[in-house]
Amino acid sequence: MSTAAINGFCITPVALNTRLSTLRQPSVSAKLNATSSSSSIPTLIRNEPVFAAPSPIITPSWRSEETMGKDYEEAIEALQKLLSEKGDLKPTAAAKVEAITAELQTTTADGKPADPVEMVKAGFITFKKEKYDTNPALFGELAKGQSPPYMVFACSDSRVCPSHVLDLQPGEAFMVRNIANMVPAYDKTRYSGVGSAIEYAVLHLKVKHIVVIGHSACGGIKGLMSLPDDGSTSTEFIEDWVKICLPARNKVKAEHGSSSFPEQCAHCEKEAVNVSLGNLLSYPFVRQGLVNKTLSLKGGYYDFVKGSFELWGLEFSLSASLSVKDVATILHWKLF
Ligand SMILES: [Zn+2]
Repeated sequence: MSTAAINGFCITPVALNTRLSTLRQPSVSAKLNATSSSSSIPTLIRNEPVFAAPSPIITPSWRSEETMGKDYEEAIEALQKLLSEKGDLKPTAAAKVEAITAELQTTTADGKPADPVEMVKAGFITFKKEKYDTNPALFGELAKGQSPPYMVFACSDSRVCPSHVLDLQPGEAFMVRNIANMVPAYDKTRYSGVGSAIEYAVLHLKVKHIVVIGHSACGGIKGLMSLPDDGSTSTEFIEDWVKICLPARNKVKAEHGSSSFPEQCAHCEKEAVNVSLGNLLSYPFVRQGLVNKTLSLKGGYYDFVKGSFELWGLEFSLSASLSVKDVATILHWKLF
């Protein structure tokens, strides 16, 4: 195994040893660091399950499409009530509100405006001056339309923005970000937000690659690994969402049951990416793209604690009936 320095980083090829025997139970070829633990995580990072939330206070109920407009009207009414009540705030409470507002109007530790209006203004001025105005050719082309070669799934986590981590420029990647970068299996009755994004990216934009990127210290994955065995839930949406990657959790528990919890989470962060890659195969237009060789699927993993990125490619060998016959790693590298 050779190691070569590239721009101050080291690239280490990883053995091409992934072989996935079944679609639903893909194995991870990613080389996991057994020494990783929560102790290596910077103290500033809140390393908590994303569903460490208070118990729900509202009983959910299904609404038909006809009554959905009413939800909006009720929300506006409630907001107006809150605003009118604010006028009746007692002096102490009013002073507190003013103090908090004043605090918000200062700057953050890195000198950026803390006030949201100022932050948006300053951010856009920087972008306009440094990117937009200096690249009229690119933005002129993008004004006509988009033809991104990539579709990227990434976590909503504020630390893992793919545009920053992978230096993706405007027009290069059609992006979906959600809790724990998950791709649900094809289902027209649920998760239509994700389904419509995949349909649009593959059929209309004709992306060439779909990349699902997991990351270290993922709160969503920690939540998945922390789910109670009795199936009980305490959140409105989060636990139901992360259950998309239950096969990953089950595999990690079966194969790494004796490992520490942080190690299990690190395994699951990669295994969940493979479950999502498998779920992508349940979309007919994705399968068609793979058969026609106009589309490829790739898994990635960004470790922001170590500052490394791994990528693995999966080549799906499909039979005439479109069932998955075999999966082989065609690419796997790790960059430190
Ligand atoms: Zn995450």
